[in-house]
Amino acid sequence: MSVTFAQKLAAIPGYQAGVPAGKAPEAIVDSGIAQLASNESPWGPHPDVIEAIARAAAAMNRYPDPAATLLRQRIAERQDTDPAEIAVANGSCEILLAATLALCEPGAELVYAWPSFSIYPYLAPLSGAREIRVSLAPGEVHDLDAMLAEVTAATQLMVVCNPNNPTGTHLPAERIAELCERLPEHVTLIVDEAYVEFQLDDDPDATVDLRRRFPNLVLLRTFSKVYGLAGLRVGYALGTPGFRAAVDAVRQPFSVNAVAQAAAAEAIRHQDDVMRRVERTIVERVTVEEGVRELGLETPDSHTNFSWISLGDRDEAEVVARLADAGVIVRAGTPLGGPGHIRVSYGTSEQNRRFLDALAAIV
Ligand code: PMP
Repeated sequence: MSVTFAQKLAAIPGYQAGVPAGKAPEAIVDSGIAQLASNESPWGPHPDVIEAIARAAAAMNRYPDPAATLLRQRIAERQDTDPAEIAVANGSCEILLAATLALCEPGAELVYAWPSFSIYPYLAPLSGAREIRVSLAPGEVHDLDAMLAEVTAATQLMVVCNPNNPTGTHLPAERIAELCERLPEHVTLIVDEAYVEFQLDDDPDATVDLRRRFPNLVLLRTFSKVYGLAGLRVGYALGTPGFRAAVDAVRQPFSVNAVAQAAAAEAIRHQDDVMRRVERTIVERVTVEEGVRELGLETPDSHTNFSWISLGDRDEAEVVARLADAGVIVRAGTPLGGPGHIRVSYGTSEQNRRFLDALAAIV
């Protein structure tokens, strides 16, 4: 007897982890390996957040608040909006999956750019939607005209990753405003802003104001990057109360665990710490970009906590393997949609130095 799985399974790409499976995060830190493959923060959570985690841990015999009331209230205060407009989930990835399930009937169309975040190719097979991928324009930026040209009566969802993973490029908020103006109202636009704090084109909250004018605009944010809480899995969306209700209807009720709720609710109170993390990241960004360009390699100006580096005619797999031999784990470009590239997240100063030295020895 054999089990027959759903056909859609074959179309799901499968996530390739940044580090070999089977290693706990703390073991990687102890090993001294520079883990620069997953766009994480190299700095642990704020001490008050660690304390909040310890306090929450003592009540682990209880289920979490399914409405994440305190967390949604704190996010709403920070974003100067109503908690009814905040959806939370187990990482922003879960919101993307839930939003697609809630918005798309089988056959509905979904438009996104490529290369972009590696989770987007899951959305169509899981929901039965039909995906339309639009290549990035020269300069590795979203080609909004080309994306708009793909919109039809069947289009339900457009996703714009801004700043874009893996290329690190960013479109200013005024370009997002133009897109909203030109997009038909039946299309929901999700702007995935996982890295928005790291860009310096605009105030990171410039797009928040756009939501007053465009109810079909949803902003997706995460505690995984600048807040340094990737291991806890908390993401949120700013959308209409209807959007929040739709996400809540399709995700499991206890999706954000109690430790994660407590940690994120504390972390968002420390905006001074967020600023410091951004400043430190930008110092590292300048070092890595300058170092890479001095080696004669091309990299688009990053607006994130990682760089996308073109290797020219060098062998991508060999570069990744030789960096690994030097104790530096980076992401190969091919599975991310960009053969001949690597993506490197910024680590501590020492890790970035090690990366640049190892890269110099290879090229
Ligand atoms: N969006 C983008 C563009 C990302 O790069 C990532 C993480 N790599 C996420 C969303 C997912 O974040 P989370 O940890 O909140 O699921």
